[in-house]
Amino acid sequence: MTNNRLQDLARKHLWMHFTDMGYFQDHEIPIMSHGEGCYVYDVNGKKYLDGLSGLFASQLGHGRSEITEAMAKQGEKLAFFPIWNHAHPSAIELAARLAELAPGDLNRVFFTSGGSEAVESAWKLVRQYYAETGEPRRYKVISRNLAYHGTTMGALSINGLNECRNTFEPLVPGTSYVGNTNAYRSHLMSDGMSSEEFAKKCAFEIEMAIEYQGPETVAAVFLEPVQNSGGCFVPPAGYFQEVRKICDKYKIMLVSDEVICAFGRLGYMFGAERFDYLPDIITCAKGLTSAYAPMGAMICRDYLMEPFLKEEKSFNHGITFAGHPVACAAALANLDIFEKEDILGNVRRNESLFRELLEGLYDIPIVGDVRGAGYFFGIELVKNKATKESFSEEEAEEILFDFVSTRLVESGLICRTDDRGEPVIQLSPPLVAGPDELREIATVLRAVLTDAAALVAKL
Ligand code: PLP
Repeated sequence: MTNNRLQDLARKHLWMHFTDMGYFQDHEIPIMSHGEGCYVYDVNGKKYLDGLSGLFASQLGHGRSEITEAMAKQGEKLAFFPIWNHAHPSAIELAARLAELAPGDLNRVFFTSGGSEAVESAWKLVRQYYAETGEPRRYKVISRNLAYHGTTMGALSINGLNECRNTFEPLVPGTSYVGNTNAYRSHLMSDGMSSEEFAKKCAFEIEMAIEYQGPETVAAVFLEPVQNSGGCFVPPAGYFQEVRKICDKYKIMLVSDEVICAFGRLGYMFGAERFDYLPDIITCAKGLTSAYAPMGAMICRDYLMEPFLKEEKSFNHGITFAGHPVACAAALANLDIFEKEDILGNVRRNESLFRELLEGLYDIPIVGDVRGAGYFFGIELVKNKATKESFSEEEAEEILFDFVSTRLVESGLICRTDDRGEPVIQLSPPLVAGPDELREIATVLRAVLTDAAALVAKL
C-alpha cells in the first residue's frame, strides 16, 4: 500500500492510543515500516534512532531473528493453550527462569498480557491474600504523585496522575498518594540536605499516609524503582530501605512496579536489585519479551502463595492469553540473548558515558535537570535555570510539542516529550546501544535544544 492509502485508512479506522486523533486528521501520521538494531524506518524510508525503545520496551532493538524464529517454532508446535487448570512447557520453563533471576524468594510467577494487568493483578492478589488470612479490612493502596501504573480501572486508580484518572471517576476506592522523590523540585528538599535525609523525609510521608488511612486498612504501597512519569525520579540513598522498614512495621506489602525498570533498563535484571531492596511483589512487562510479544508478569514471594496452596482455594483471577506459549517462547529467547550478549554488562559499561553526554548539555540555558539511571534518563527543560521557573501551559505546548518534538523527529531521533509534570524529554534507548548511538542522541539533542533555547530567549 502507498503511504497516502495507509494515511487515509489510518485516519478512517485506526484508533491510536492516548493520541489526539483530531490533530492527525490533517497532519501526516508517522507510520513505521521496519526496524533493525537501534533504528526504525518509516514507510517513506526515513531512518530514526529509537531513543525510547518503542515505549521503554524494545530492550534488544529491532529485527532479532533468534526471537522471531523461536516464536515461529513454538507456534508450529503449540500456538495456544491457556494456563487455566493446564500448563505447557514454555510457561513452566519461563516461570522457573524468572524465579531464578528474581531476588530473594520471589519464586511464584503469575503471567499477564501486559503491565496494567500485572498491576491490576497485584492489587487483587493482596486484597484476596489479606481476606484469606483474616484481615479483610486491608484493601487500600498508597502510590506516588505523578506516577503512572496503567489504564485498567484498578491500575488507573493507583495512578498518581490526576489528568489520567479524573476522566474516569468514580474510580476504585481505597487509593491515596504521597510525594515522589523529585529532588530537583520536592518541597521536602532544601539546600544542603543530604540524599539520606531527603530519603527519610520522603519515606516518612508514606508512614504518615499509612497512619492517616489507618494501618489496619492498608494493604500495599506501589512504587517504581525509578519513577518514569515526571521524568526519571531516582530514589535518594536509603529510600527503599526506609520504605521497606515502614512496610514491615505495619505489615504492608511493597510492590515494585518494574514494568519499565526490569530487564536491564537500570543495568540489572530487576530494578529492586539495583537499589538493594526485597519487594513482596514485582510487576513487570515490556522488556520481558523485548516487545516481541505482549506479555507481563507478577512475581510474588513464596509466602503469598501459601493460602492458595490449600485445597479448594484459588486466586480468583485469570486472563485468557496470559502465559501465551508464543509469548513465553519470545521471553525465553530474549533472556537467552541477555545472557549470551551480556546485555546488563553493556548498560553498566556505558551508563556513565550516557550520563556524561547528557550532563554535557547543561550549558544550554533551558536544560534544568538531567536525572536517571542505567539507560533511562529524563531532561527537565526550564525557562529560567537560576530560578527553576518552568513554562506556562501555552509555552510548554509551543516549545515542547510544537518545536522540540517536531525538530527531534525531523532530526531522526525518537524520544518522548512529556509534560505530565514539568516539561521533560525522556530517553530510554535499546540496551544494545553502544557509545556511537548514545553520542548520536546527545548530538541531536544539542542541536534541537540550542535552537529551542534561542526561541525561549525571545518569549
Ligand atoms: N506500570 C508502569 C510503571 C508503566 O510504565 C506502565 C506503562 O508504561 C504500566 C504499568 C502499564 O503497562 P501496559 O501499558 O503494558 O499496560
